[in-house]
Amino acid sequence: MSSNMQIVKICEYCSKEFIAKKTTTKCCSDDCAKRFYKLNKRNDKIAQAELKTEIKRQPKAFITEAEIRVIQTKQYLTLKEAAVLLNVSPLTLRRWTLDGKMNANKVGKKWMFEKINLGLHIFN
Ligand SMILES: [Zn+2]
Repeated sequence: MSSNMQIVKICEYCSKEFIAKKTTTKCCSDDCAKRFYKLNKRNDKIAQAELKTEIKRQPKAFITEAEIRVIQTKQYLTLKEAAVLLNVSPLTLRRWTLDGKMNANKVGKKWMFEKINLGLHIFN
């Protein structure tokens, strides 16, 4: 294998054709490489900011498998766990419970839901 390979590539920043010496080269010049790097960093930041917003918007989507496994093994669930199982927000489930739509027991200050009862509630 020759070490001075010449590969025709398209610059990922300015889209110009150029001759690269390495397969990993992405840009036609140092200038483009620097700009491309900056652009990528900025896109990463935007993507991260969007992800954070996403987490705030729908925390349910980020429940871990471990948490689900714990819920599956329990007979009695807390409001939060029952909400996960029903795929509704804890606030919604609390409202249903206060409306008498859910079969729940109050233990101290906490609502407890028997898992076998969860399928029997009435939807609007
Ligand atoms: Zn370029």
